[in-house]
Amino acid sequence: VSTTSGQPCVSKLVLLGSSSVGKTSLVLRYMKQDFSSVLPTVGCAFFTKVVDIGSSSLKLEIWDTAGQEKYHSVCHLYFRGANAALLVYDITRKGSFHKAQQWLQDLEKEFHPGEVVVMLVGNKTDLGEEREVTFQEGKEFAESKNLLFMETSAKLNYQVSEVFSTVAQELLQRA
Ligand code: GDP
Ligand code: MG
Repeated sequence: VSTTSGQPCVSKLVLLGSSSVGKTSLVLRYMKQDFSSVLPTVGCAFFTKVVDIGSSSLKLEIWDTAGQEKYHSVCHLYFRGANAALLVYDITRKGSFHKAQQWLQDLEKEFHPGEVVVMLVGNKTDLGEEREVTFQEGKEFAESKNLLFMETSAKLNYQVSEVFSTVAQELLQRA
């Protein structure tokens, strides 16, 4: 988190999680048309958005993968300098919940404890009848690892902006 007078703090937020859990859908839903730039060389898209919280504001640089998570091979550049991470899983796919736990281990290799604000996000709540991971399971895992936790539906735009604003709020508190 950095700041110069009059400019909002800038924080880098990375999205992690299995393929097709809805990472890109969450970002696009949050950004609407505010697409600002793409970094093709590292195979990641990155978007910026200024989040206002009370009288403070924070510029979030949101990094999304270009599908390389399929091979569980996200480059170091992707992690480098991250201030926050969303660990996304699909509540209808237990395997994606286990994978989120693996991504957390990767994060723990790259960063010191508490250095990065991490939120566990259970997406696709609109598919409740196919649910394989209960809210309680998500919540308990998050609590055991000291992560923030929310369930979302990118499809129904349920709790999407809340995810980003909660992370931004946490980042501002730590700044
Ligand atoms: P990514 O690989 O993690 O970036 O996942 P995508 O954003 O590409 O989404 C994968 C698929 O899941 C697409 O077909 C999306 O339309 C669908 N999807 C994403 N979010 C939701 C959601 O909240 N509910 C439902 N029902 N489908 C979703
Ligand atoms: Mg994607």
